[in-house]
Amino acid sequence: MAATDALERLRAGGKPALARALAAIEAAPEAETTLGLLDAAWADPRAQVIGLTGPPGVGKSTLVAALVRHWRGAGQTVAVIAVDPTSRRSGGALLGDRTRLDLDPDDAGVFVRSMAARDRLGGVATLTSAATGLMRATHDLVLVETVGVGQSETDIADLADTVLLAVQPGSGDALQYMKAGIAEIPDVAVVGKADLGALAERTRGDLEAALHLQSRPGEAWTVPVLAASARDTSGIVELADALRRHWRHLAPDLAGRRRQRERVWLRSAVRDEHGARGLARAVAGHRSLLDDDGRSPWRRLALVATALGAT
Ligand code: GDP
Repeated sequence: MAATDALERLRAGGKPALARALAAIEAAPEAETTLGLLDAAWADPRAQVIGLTGPPGVGKSTLVAALVRHWRGAGQTVAVIAVDPTSRRSGGALLGDRTRLDLDPDDAGVFVRSMAARDRLGGVATLTSAATGLMRATHDLVLVETVGVGQSETDIADLADTVLLAVQPGSGDALQYMKAGIAEIPDVAVVGKADLGALAERTRGDLEAALHLQSRPGEAWTVPVLAASARDTSGIVELADALRRHWRHLAPDLAGRRRQRERVWLRSAVRDEHGARGLARAVAGHRSLLDDDGRSPWRRLALVATALGAT
């Protein structure tokens, strides 16, 4: 099979091969070679996809660097996507700003890419989704960092196995979470800058109380609420451990959960690309493509586009 060979070449080719594959997805998202590779990657995933979200300035970039160093120390390979909340109008990722992660650029086991959230402000674009799909097949861990703007926690939940929320010590974020339904409940929460001491610990306690008030029905998972400091690295091991425990918690039904998320993602992608009427036509005429027909969501998105164009 050409596509599975292409996936093997991608895995053997390291960072240059992944960079070329991402460029190809960007340049020709609906080309057969692109979709074939995405299909092959989708069928053979390896990584836990972690979505990190939180308001600007809470220390997400610094936290990403600390987590990556921890994972690399344990011999795991990591791919990072930093999603920019750049609007469609201004376009393009703020590369200068978002690739300032303090990591060794020569480390073959870390791949970092900045991407614009072009489709929706703060949301997760099709390209980001496809890139995540590829990286999920090439690395041990994929970390997608988004800036929390309104409902972007919900968007990242379409993409990530584990949603990690970062909160600023002393901020009103914990109170926000008291208002039920304001945002998706994360799987793990962390108060950053724990080196600030009592303030961080108080925020951690508030957030823990707020989150535990809104437990998900039927979910046997209690959201760990931790405090960590990227500056003095306290709490980073515990944070990595909580993320790993969530991964183990997901294992029995991982494939089912991913299929369900893909259904949600595909509907919103169809709505973004074809409008509410396009989505209604797809639901009416191409339901099996939307639901799950055993092919990757990116393939199905392309097939929906073709089907809608033909009718
Ligand atoms: P982001 O916008 O969420 O990615 O936040 P950054 O990682 O850029 O950090 C924002 C600011 O917080 C910077 O000035 C960092 O130096 C500072 N910062 C990040 N991590 C820590 C930490 O663990 N402790 C303290 N005290 N400051 C931190």
